[in-house]
Amino acid sequence: MDADLQSLYRETLISQSRNPENNYILENATRQGELKNPLCGDVVTIYLSIDGDQIEKASFQAQCCSICKASASMLTTRITGADRSGAAALAEKLVAFLNDPKSDTFGKNDSLQALSGVKAFASRVRCATLPWEALYRALAD
Ligand SMILES: [Zn+2]
Repeated sequence: MDADLQSLYRETLISQSRNPENNYILENATRQGELKNPLCGDVVTIYLSIDGDQIEKASFQAQCCSICKASASMLTTRITGADRSGAAALAEKLVAFLNDPKSDTFGKNDSLQALSGVKAFASRVRCATLPWEALYRALAD
């Protein structure tokens, strides 16, 4: 990966983890999903407010490392306004993308591509996928 791109991705993750979006408990959430990563102690809960088939609001609460927090922040902004199957499909795509070292699914203009930095550190991949796996849970509930 080119060095400029790599540092851009790093910047994105740092700013997202320092100033995360939608980092609060959603009152009146219609669904929620909590998940723990025993390896690094991350715990994340995704809250959804769903009307019909549409995700009207998404938020998260977490005690987790900066990668997990940045990922959760991006997740909530991305799925707000999406329908349930669209959000589930995105989660599936992201988890597959991060677990495959060679995959370049999102392309460099997509903010989710910033998470690709964790691919170099196998033990951190789960930190990035955890919020998305919690989202699955919330949707399946
Ligand atoms: Zn972590």
